[in-house]
Amino acid sequence: MKRLAILGSTGSIGTQALEVVAANPGLFEVEVLSAHSNAELLIKQSREFSPNAVVVTDESKYKLVKDALSDLPIKVFSGNKSLSEVVQWESIDTVLGAIVGFAGLQSILAAIDAGKRIALANKETLVVAGELVMGRAAAKNVQIIPVDSEHSAIFQCLVGEDRQTVEKVVLTASGGPFLGRKQNFLVNVKASHALQHPNWTMGAKISIDSATLMNKGLEVIEAKWLFGLRNEQIDVVIHPQSIIHSMVQFNDGSLKAQMGLPDMKLPIQYAIAYPGRLANNLKRFDFKEFSKLSFEQPDYKTFRNLAIAKEALDKAGNAPCVMNAANEVVVHAFLQNRVGFLEMSDMIEKTLERVDFIQHPTLEDYMRSDEDARAYTAEFLKKSQLSIY
Ligand code: NDP
Ligand code: MG
Repeated sequence: MKRLAILGSTGSIGTQALEVVAANPGLFEVEVLSAHSNAELLIKQSREFSPNAVVVTDESKYKLVKDALSDLPIKVFSGNKSLSEVVQWESIDTVLGAIVGFAGLQSILAAIDAGKRIALANKETLVVAGELVMGRAAAKNVQIIPVDSEHSAIFQCLVGEDRQTVEKVVLTASGGPFLGRKQNFLVNVKASHALQHPNWTMGAKISIDSATLMNKGLEVIEAKWLFGLRNEQIDVVIHPQSIIHSMVQFNDGSLKAQMGLPDMKLPIQYAIAYPGRLANNLKRFDFKEFSKLSFEQPDYKTFRNLAIAKEALDKAGNAPCVMNAANEVVVHAFLQNRVGFLEMSDMIEKTLERVDFIQHPTLEDYMRSDEDARAYTAEFLKKSQLSIY
């Protein structure tokens, strides 16, 4: 029996994790659930899974949740500080980090410090502070099991292998809804269009990141820290069918791939059940339905975010943190139709130029860089809107 804390239980990953829990009675116990603002769903989940505690980080929702659960022996907390305390409770074995964005960093660090095993979906945590997070995990002998499908694929390919024999990893990317499109088309696309991913149903932020290829850029950085790779050991290939989830090439030229239909429940269940595999009834891949698996090079000129992310990785220091913050702000604005699709890359680049570079940031430096970057990007957004109207 594994005792889980599911951070971000109301999101796309969080709800699918609870489906995995429900499908495997007796294997998992839900100790803690956390949500930000979706009080209604958090209350419903709490009634169904009877956690020991729930944390609603949006403090304005505390009373609503507390009152709704007053007939049950569930402890209710609010705020980020409480979340970082609760994840350290002794009753928890594994923490699933499924909060979106920089907001997920502190609670994951707290869980690592308390020696919890981490199932990590929140890639931004590693993009912002990968060196620090992995350093703390190593110091505490904490294992970080990836949930992101590409990284789960690489992790599965590495089972039983000597890490020293890895020549490179190849991250696959579907290319998103705008694969093959050029600037003249992209200049007019709206959020509603960008949210329609061909192969995956995901939260809004990662769906936009997939459309801009920033998601793949974030994943390159995530891969570096998770697997201790040099930057030049990470390749990206477009694979529109999303059947090969990623590959590892070894020093004898052998290339191992992990394949399957695109369904996040598989990497979620692998991460929370690790090191075991659980039998399930998910739909199986059928060769008859896929006569062709294809591959092509990413278009770095049109989808500049992927190039920006690689540059930020090469620059290192606080550059990925700044890029991530700027990206979170422009994606939020794009979802509200306040910025154009192509303008997002311009603003991320301008923010990277403005925020002071720090070669060896501390946690406080990351917090400050994140804050500064958000302020600059918000300023650029304001200016661009003034010039339109
Ligand atoms: P969603 O937007 O669907 O869910 C995000 C979750 O985080 C919700 O529970 C939300 O709470 C909570 N949350 C949002 N803001 C805050 C905050 N400020 N403080 C605390 N909690 C907050 O995202 P996804 O599930 O799609 O993604 C989660 C993470 O997993 C992301 O980092 C993403 O990149 C990664 N990932 C997702 C995949 C997917 O298929 N969805 C695939 C691979 C990685 P509420 O809704 O209550 O406001
Ligand atoms: Mg992914």
